[in-house]
Amino acid sequence: TPALAQGARAEATVDLAALRDNLAALRARTNGPELMAVVKADAYGHGALRCAREAVAAGAGWLGTATPEEALALRAAGIGPEQARILCWLWTPGGPWARALRESVDISVSGQWALDELLAAVRETGIPARVHLKADTGLGRNGCQPHDWPDLVENAVKAQADGMLRVVGVWSHFAAADEPGHPSIQIQLDSFAQALAFAERSGVDPEVRHLANSPATLLLPQSHYDLVRPGLAMYGLSPVPDVGGPADFGLRPVMSLAARLALVKRVPGGHGISYGHHYTTPGPTTLGLVPLGYADGVPRHASNTGPVQIGSTWYRVAGRVAMDQFVVDLGGDVPEVGEEVLLFGSGERGEPTAEDWARACGTIAYEVITRIGGRVPRRYV
Ligand code: PLP
Repeated sequence: TPALAQGARAEATVDLAALRDNLAALRARTNGPELMAVVKADAYGHGALRCAREAVAAGAGWLGTATPEEALALRAAGIGPEQARILCWLWTPGGPWARALRESVDISVSGQWALDELLAAVRETGIPARVHLKADTGLGRNGCQPHDWPDLVENAVKAQADGMLRVVGVWSHFAAADEPGHPSIQIQLDSFAQALAFAERSGVDPEVRHLANSPATLLLPQSHYDLVRPGLAMYGLSPVPDVGGPADFGLRPVMSLAARLALVKRVPGGHGISYGHHYTTPGPTTLGLVPLGYADGVPRHASNTGPVQIGSTWYRVAGRVAMDQFVVDLGGDVPEVGEEVLLFGSGERGEPTAEDWARACGTIAYEVITRIGGRVPRRYV
């Protein structure tokens, strides 16, 4: 990975070759299902359009977004329906459903109220919807509960007979696929099989039946059906860090985050550091200022814990992470102002990874990468 660009305060490098290789690794671990590249939330912070294009070029026939606006942005940027089907799954009332129909975006439906609103958009546009019926098989979040499923399926089948829509997908989402052996996994597999059987008996003939997120793609072949929907794994991070790291699954992290050391100064012992003085220098020492803060997505929970690498040495955040900057205690080391500070990367240079940051902050790698803010330029290599 190349060094920080000339003059850059900070930069997130996105290694598109790694993204391609990760997709190939995921394909190699599965036995033929289609791939949906999950590119919601700006491709987990990596840049939705670049990653979507790369994934499509690497053979992903599907893209997954949360909101219809995310899906429409991909279409507006030129990813046409002949290149990739796009499914958006976060229904909100009053959403841009007519535009989604015009742009040939597939829409997830979790309940009758959504079906009714979608059918109004179908009447308005004269364009039949491509619908993925979502069953709540146990996540307890989005999706249709088993007791409402028969009505939803039957109403969708009626609308299909009237030429208003086509049920192209039946699908669901796991609650704990990242916890191997969790009792909910088998319950959800069974519940999905039942929901699917009911839909098929009722006249639904889906193009794709899908259930698997990253951990299920890696660990649960019985969940793969016709299509898998990896997000985190495509970005090269392990969704099951207690089971194995990226390399154990043939993956490598796509994003690295670096900043330029902005200030180096000597301070005496007993000096309070950053807001609230939650760190006090244990003796005379050298401080380094890193020009990234929580406005850039560096978690405030990283205060006094987050790891960085300068040269080949790791240091910890000293005191609180502020909005735009944080401090590291360099001890006796005196790196030069302008040197590269690596917050996280693939680990190949010995640097911390997003998983190290997640552990330091009591969160998950998903949150670390997704929150890297818009103020940090992305560089694609
Ligand atoms: N499918 C759905 C419905 C999701 O909401 C997500 C993300 O949370 C994914 C797939 C991808 O999940 P992961 O990043 O664990 O692969």
